[in-house]
Amino acid sequence: MTRKLPAIVLVATLALAACEGSHTDGVRSIAGSWAFHPGDDTSWASAKFNDSAWTHLQVPGSWGRQGQQDVSGIAWYRLRVSPTWPTDQPLGVTIGKVHAAYELYADGVKVGGVGQLPPNPEQVYDRHATYIIPFNASRQSITLALRVWRPENRHPGEAGPTGGPFEIGPLATLLERAKLLEVDRLVFFCVFMAVAIYLLGLWLLRPKSKEYGYFAVVALCAATYVFLLTQWKYTLTSDFVFLKKTEHMMLYLTPIFLTEFLGEFLGRPRNVWVRAGEIAFAVGGLAVLLSPGLEFALWLLPFLEGYSFICGIVALAMLGWWWHKGDHNAGVVGSGVLAMVIAMTHDAFVDRGLIVGPRFAAYGFVAMVTGLALLLGVRFHRAVEGIANMSRELEGRVKQRTTELADAYSRMEELALHDPLTNLLNRRAITERASAGLSLAHRRKAAYSVALIDIDHFKAINDTHGHEAGDRVLVAVSEALGTTARVSDDVARWGGEEFLVLLPDADKAASLLAAERLRAAIASMIIGANALRVAATVSVGVATSDGTSEQTTPFEELVRRSDEALYRAKESGRNRVSAA
Ligand code: GH3
Ligand code: MG
Ligand code: MG
Repeated sequence: MTRKLPAIVLVATLALAACEGSHTDGVRSIAGSWAFHPGDDTSWASAKFNDSAWTHLQVPGSWGRQGQQDVSGIAWYRLRVSPTWPTDQPLGVTIGKVHAAYELYADGVKVGGVGQLPPNPEQVYDRHATYIIPFNASRQSITLALRVWRPENRHPGEAGPTGGPFEIGPLATLLERAKLLEVDRLVFFCVFMAVAIYLLGLWLLRPKSKEYGYFAVVALCAATYVFLLTQWKYTLTSDFVFLKKTEHMMLYLTPIFLTEFLGEFLGRPRNVWVRAGEIAFAVGGLAVLLSPGLEFALWLLPFLEGYSFICGIVALAMLGWWWHKGDHNAGVVGSGVLAMVIAMTHDAFVDRGLIVGPRFAAYGFVAMVTGLALLLGVRFHRAVEGIANMSRELEGRVKQRTTELADAYSRMEELALHDPLTNLLNRRAITERASAGLSLAHRRKAAYSVALIDIDHFKAINDTHGHEAGDRVLVAVSEALGTTARVSDDVARWGGEEFLVLLPDADKAASLLAAERLRAAIASMIIGANALRVAATVSVGVATSDGTSEQTTPFEELVRRSDEALYRAKESGRNRVSAA
C-alpha cells in the first residue's frame, strides 16, 4: 500500500485537475488588463464614468510587480465586459484573492466585498468570493469596479489582486467551479492526513520509536497548512485573523517537529545549537499566537522566511556531511529537505515579484512528506520482521532449553532414586513406594510383605576374588532378583550386599513361597565365566502385615521384623528363608 501511495496521489491529482477544466459553459475569464487609478472616488464605480485616461494593470498581478510599489491606501480597478452568456440564467462574478481588502461594484451598485476598508479596516486577503450581479444590470455590457485597499506597511509584492479565479458567467456554473478550484490542495490535504494517521498508528504500535510520532505531527502540520490555503477553511469559521494565525503557527511548529524527527530518525543527539534553533521557532510562534491582530505576525513573516531558509541550509549541510560519511538515511532525508528548501525559496522569489509563476511550497512539502513516510514505513516493516525473526529464534531456543532441562531433570530423578552399580531402586525410593503401598494395602485390608535378602559370606567372595568380582556378583544377583520377582514386586538395593523386595498382596505363606523362589534362583546360578566362576547363596527374612490390624504397620517395623527373620536364617545355616 505504502509503495503505491505516490502513484495514487499523482493519478488522483491529475483526475481532479481534469475535472477543474470542465463546467465552462458560458463562463468567461475577466483576468487580464484592467483600468487602474490610485485614489478614491465612489463615482468611479459608475458605468458612465470615462476611464480612458487611466493606466492599465494585469489582474491578477500585484502593484509592486507592475510599477505601482509606491501606491498605498485606496486604488480603483475598472473593467467593461460585453457578455455572451445565456440570458435566462442569473449572472455571477468570481473574484480571487485581493490584498488586503476590497469592495466590488457592478454598474455603480455595490455587490459585495471581502474584508473592511478604512476607516475601520480589516484585512482578509486570501478569500475567493462569487457575487450575484443584480438583475437590473444591463445585459449588453457590465462595468465592474474594484475598490482596493492596501495598508501602508505591507510590502508591495502583495498589494492588489494576487491570485485565484477572476471569472464572470452563469451563477450556478461559477459556484460549481468554485468547488473544484482547489482540488490539488485538497488531495494534498488528504495525503498528509493519511500519512499522519498511518504514522500515528505505527507510533502507537511502537511508542519507543518516537520518530514516527514526530513525523506524524509534521504531516498533521502540513495537512493543516494546505487546508488553510484553501477556501474550504471558511467552512470552519469566518474569523480571518484566527485562520491566518493558525496558518502561520504551522510555519513555526513544523521546523521544530521536523528537527526532532530528524534527530530521532538518524539517531543524532540534539546539541545546544539545535535546541536554541528550536526555541527560536517556538518563541516566534508563541509571540504570533499571543499578539493581538495580524500586524505582528505579518511583520515577523519575512524574518521567519529568512531564518527558515538559513536553518534549511544548515540542515542540508549537516545531512550532506553525514551522507558523505556513509549514512544512507541522511542522504534520503536530505533530498526531501532539499526539495522543500528549493520550493520555499522559489515561493519567496514569487512573493517578491522576482519570478512570475505559481507557488511550489505545497508540492515540495508533498514530495518530502510522502517520501519520508515511505522510508519510515519500510523501516517499520523491517523492524517488525526483525522482531518476528528474533522471537521465532528465541521461541526455538526456549523449546530446546526446556527439553534439555526436562531431560536433565529426569536424569537427576533417575540418579536420585536408583543405585548406580545395580541400577535397582535405592533405599530412599523403595521406602517411599513401600509406605504408599502399605497404606493402600491397609485401606484395602490386604496383606503386604517384604523380603530382606543378604548374600552369604560375601566378605569371603570379596576377599577371595577381589572387590571387582564382588561387584559383578552384586550386579548378577540384582539381575536375577529383578527377573525372578513379579513385575509388580519392586526390588531395591537396601545396603552393601543386602536387597529388599516388596511383595504387595502376599500373605505369610505367599511371601515364603516368593522368597523361596528368589533364594533358589540365586543358588542355582553360576556367576562369571572362564577363570572366574563364583557361586553365591542368599539368606532371606520375610515379614508380613496381614492388613487386619487397626493401624497401618509402619514400614520400619516390617523391615525390623524381616531383619530379625534374616538373622535367624543366617543362624540356622544360611541359604534359606525365614519368616518373622
Ligand atoms: P554373612 O553371610 O554373615 O552376611 O557374611 P558376609 O561376609 O556377607 O557379611 P558382612 O556384613 O560381614 O560382609 C559384607 C561385606 O560386603 C562387607 C563389605 O566389604 C562388602 N560390600 C558391601 N558393599 C559392597 C560393594 O558395593 N561391593 C563389594 N565388592 N563389596 C561390598
Ligand atoms: Mg550384610
Ligand atoms: Mg552377607
